[in-house]
Amino acid sequence: MTNAKHENYRDDLLETQSPSFTIEQVKDFANERFGLTGKLFPLNSERDQNFRISTEVGDQFVIKIANSAEDPAVIDMQLKALEYIANVDPELSVPKVLLSRNGAAIEQVQAENGTKHYIRVLSYLPGAPPMEYPTDLALLRPMGACLARLALALRGFFHPAANYELLWDVKHFSKLRQYLPHVNDANHRELATYFLDRFDRNVLPLITKLRAQIVHNDFVPDNILVAENDPGRIVGIIDFGDLTHTLLIVDLATTSARMLVGHSEPVGKAAEIITGYHELVPLEDAELSILYDLIAARLTMLAVIASWRVTIHPDNREYIFGDIEEIWLTLETWRAQDSADVTRKFFRVCGLWELEEVDAMPKEANETFQTHLSRRASLLGPCTYLFYKHPLHIVRGEGVWLYDNDGNRYLDAYNNVAQVGHCHPHVVNAIANQARRLNTSTRYMHRLILELAEQITNRMPEPLSVCMFVCSGSEANELAWQMSRIVSRNTGVLITKFSYHGSTAATTQFSTEKISQEKLPTHVQTLFAPTSDSTFRKPDSGLSSALMALNEQGHQPAMLILDTGFVSDGIYTSPKGYLNTLYAKTRNAGGLCVADEVQAGFGRLGQHFWGFQFDDVIPDIVTLGKPMGNGHPLAAVLTRPEIAEALALESGYFNTFGGNPVSCAAGLAVLEVIEKEALQRNALEVGQYLRDRLAEVQKDYPMLSELRGSGLLQGMDIVNSAGALDPEMADNIMNHMRENGVLIGTTGEHAQTLKIRPPIVFQKEHADRLVAALRKALDEL
Ligand code: PMP
Repeated sequence: MTNAKHENYRDDLLETQSPSFTIEQVKDFANERFGLTGKLFPLNSERDQNFRISTEVGDQFVIKIANSAEDPAVIDMQLKALEYIANVDPELSVPKVLLSRNGAAIEQVQAENGTKHYIRVLSYLPGAPPMEYPTDLALLRPMGACLARLALALRGFFHPAANYELLWDVKHFSKLRQYLPHVNDANHRELATYFLDRFDRNVLPLITKLRAQIVHNDFVPDNILVAENDPGRIVGIIDFGDLTHTLLIVDLATTSARMLVGHSEPVGKAAEIITGYHELVPLEDAELSILYDLIAARLTMLAVIASWRVTIHPDNREYIFGDIEEIWLTLETWRAQDSADVTRKFFRVCGLWELEEVDAMPKEANETFQTHLSRRASLLGPCTYLFYKHPLHIVRGEGVWLYDNDGNRYLDAYNNVAQVGHCHPHVVNAIANQARRLNTSTRYMHRLILELAEQITNRMPEPLSVCMFVCSGSEANELAWQMSRIVSRNTGVLITKFSYHGSTAATTQFSTEKISQEKLPTHVQTLFAPTSDSTFRKPDSGLSSALMALNEQGHQPAMLILDTGFVSDGIYTSPKGYLNTLYAKTRNAGGLCVADEVQAGFGRLGQHFWGFQFDDVIPDIVTLGKPMGNGHPLAAVLTRPEIAEALALESGYFNTFGGNPVSCAAGLAVLEVIEKEALQRNALEVGQYLRDRLAEVQKDYPMLSELRGSGLLQGMDIVNSAGALDPEMADNIMNHMRENGVLIGTTGEHAQTLKIRPPIVFQKEHADRLVAALRKALDEL
């Protein structure tokens, strides 16, 4: 390997020179301590001093004199590991320890300047170094298999020194951030930062849950020997200098990373090694799911540590730097891969997803498109409509990806229900585990319902301390409506011009997206969303006239209900003062203020967890839905105790499915994922990145007008050459993007606004893909 052998964090170890005994001195040690006489040949070593000794009778050994800063306990661990492996799997060829005349595995010798060094002797293994470097394909599978076998042999091994911190342990990759200043090239620094960020986000949260044991941790061509007559057969494993206790999967990532350097098709190479490994040591889902990032981490380590070491040992530059340029290039190639695709391939080669895919194939696979559409129309009736001119037949989802029944993949930048990504394994497992145990209603005591209620109320401002569970956003708003009427004793509703709040009889009446302005019942009046057009905004976005109109019809307001992401209106973010003004005036007129967080809640907006937090207000009622169960029907109403009590006195409330333990398990899992994967921060950062990229496109294409929204909820108006809103063009762009594998929607009163609202696991690479598809649509339409 190009780089240094292991370094731990101790400065003395870094700065200590390699031992420099003369051949004569070493000959003496060999003889006096180990009873060996013969010819000595120096071997390469970074920090130690190594020799091969060939005795008169033709035996060969390796003499290793350790750097004076080396911890003897760590050396002891390495030697004990060799003995352990030889016991467990005698056919696995590893060096044998030669005991000294005193019967010890390690002896101490002293240099002329007084420094003490540990010396040990190992058998010299026959075999040849692998032919080509990087090694040819034939060795990849055997390497995977041999590594797995070595890991199995070490499975039960333990040593108290094993938990020392080794910089060359991918588990500690995050610590490499401090060495980034040593990387001179800004592009390389950015690349390393990209993978460090990914690691922190994707790997760190899982580390404590993964299998761990003592592993070789440097199983690379330099440390293996192959048969002279069969270069695909591994006959020896040497150099246990990086042996440490870490994640089992780190061992595989370390080998894979090294084998990819310089290969233009790295994924296929990694897959070969993984296949070989998996046949002996079946990999777990969680391990496979982070392997892309672990391989990237190891490659980044090779490059960053080399850059840092050059600053300490500038005279050794050529040796340390070796193939560093190739490593950076390999990292670039690795980044250019779609990480989800790579992971999928890894699962595939381990045979883990094949079954699922067969299951996922629709039964009517042979049915023609047209037959399906007509069956659908007659069975489901005329109210169900399909997205896109060329509707999609989706059979599988994963993260930000949707797959159709022909195996085509689509980047999902539309679905906010799958808030933490389609089929997030943590949520899926939570649902499956609870479904296996029990599913009942809130008529029984259950731990999960309280835990979820606590988790939600903890995220709400005081005094919103009561959480009532329902199954959909519509039910939540229906319940908010009931409460508002009971508490206010009024009958009117205030909404924005083009809003949506649900599909029940009551909520449809205050959903202007569904019911035209002319047909609005007299108890519903509208005001303006926070548009940039100040004529609508002043002084109170039309609330006073709405209140007046209500009054004229014999109503006073029971509630003001606002979707805090104003999605149907065309996607807006509340500017400071907007909600504040509306809330004050509504309350003054006797109404309650309801924040409908069905669209905007759960971190999507980035800056805040809830949309109402963009202003200095506390709603009387907050309604939640869609993203809450990541696809599982789960919704809730949050309110003050006295409001819930008023409802209890009037009618009470029961919802058979609301708050069932399976839904609660889903809801808890969603919150855990948002927390552990720092998805609110992701929505903020990737949202800003997306916004910046969209703003760049906007400069190049006059048909892109106002850009609005926050975090991962972005809207963009489409206008024609005369500057008028152009719904037809918006529709064409959306459909063109769909044909190019990117799913977005349209929204706004005339469907003139592109609606971008992906699962909040969306990454910068996905934003780039979306923007490229948008540019293509704008160029080609
Ligand atoms: N409120 C808002 C703001 C919504 O967007 C929706 C659904 N699109 C609802 C309420 C109704 O939710 P559901 O479809 O779960 O009944």
